[in-house]
Amino acid sequence: MSDGTFPPLRDELRGLEPYGAPQLDVPVQLNVNENPYGPSPMVVSEIAAAVAGVASSLNRYPDREFVELRSALAAYLSKDTPAGIGPEQVWAANGSNEVMLQLLQAFGGPGRTALSFAPTYSMYPEYARDTSTSWVEGRRDEDFTLDLDRARALVEEQRPSVVLLPSPNNPTGTALPPDAVGALCDAAGEGCLVVVDEAYGEFRRTGTPSALELLPRHRNLVVTRTMSKAFALAGGRLGYLAADPAICDAIRVVRLPYHLSAVTQAVALAALRHAPELLARVDELRAERDATVEWLRGQGLQVADSDANFALFGRFRDRRAVWQGLLDRGVLIREVGPDGWLRVSIGTGAEMTIFKRALVEVLETGDTGVTPVIGAETEVSRA
Ligand SMILES: *Cc1c(COP(=O)(O)O)cnc(C)c1O
Repeated sequence: MSDGTFPPLRDELRGLEPYGAPQLDVPVQLNVNENPYGPSPMVVSEIAAAVAGVASSLNRYPDREFVELRSALAAYLSKDTPAGIGPEQVWAANGSNEVMLQLLQAFGGPGRTALSFAPTYSMYPEYARDTSTSWVEGRRDEDFTLDLDRARALVEEQRPSVVLLPSPNNPTGTALPPDAVGALCDAAGEGCLVVVDEAYGEFRRTGTPSALELLPRHRNLVVTRTMSKAFALAGGRLGYLAADPAICDAIRVVRLPYHLSAVTQAVALAALRHAPELLARVDELRAERDATVEWLRGQGLQVADSDANFALFGRFRDRRAVWQGLLDRGVLIREVGPDGWLRVSIGTGAEMTIFKRALVEVLETGDTGVTPVIGAETEVSRA
């Protein structure tokens, strides 16, 4: 109800700050899991040519159904599943964050519940709030894996409409075993979508299959991907999903008309034509990740196993002091996840060298806040 306060914001949004990682201009930016390698001059000129190609018809609305892009995304995804993916199984939007919001607009809403397991991606509860969907958070185990029996019990008790499972998880890097995804799809039933957010899918360790393989067996499964991370196209804003065609069709009801601009479609298509080049550094980043995890453990720190392009490490009595100490040395990482932990994105070899040197210096100050807490119970997020 309006109480005369201006602007007349929804009550539940009053006093809230917009969410987002600080965007600070520092030499080493390891805070939002971007690919540190920009496109090559050749790919840059291809993208520029693709934009020039659509520029002359920008007076017209773009293809609302982005047929060509859906086909290209389907062909790209088909590499990850023997059954293949058809264009009618693909949906895309401006980043997988928009895909997620559209899913909650279509399948959440008043009287419905979305469920995830903490620590989980911090944006999900915001999309639940924005769509007036109830938000329920279960817990992961101390090693950030999912206890399948407890997870299944929570799904059966809460009867959510949407279950959100990032895999590899952000902020912990933990990948879900496919049998867990299948079991949760069964427990959820056809009245509930199980969304596996594979934003970091391309970074998964060898032998970890994609949830895409389960699509033929589970009609309620949705697998989301993004071009923002491994694909090195965060600025292009293109996220997508693979699911049953009926799910893609339903999302069309809530999407804004012409939500994917002609420029976005052209850029994404050009990038997909050069997928091998854009993804060329993924193996190098995975190796750098494994080396970073090893190195952090060598410093006596706890580090979560990671299938992603970041590592969660800790624990510190005052993680803010460590974050600030690194920032003072020109290295920006992320203060996120359970109390006492910090997340570092995997950058270039040179950037990781600077990060390591800075962290050693910060830990050497011996301040009680920055001294790692070893051995004590891990407190899983209460956020
Ligand atoms: C980065 C990230 C995304 C991708 O966001 P975009 O909107 O596609 O840039 C999605 N899910 C998770 C868990 C992420 O960390």
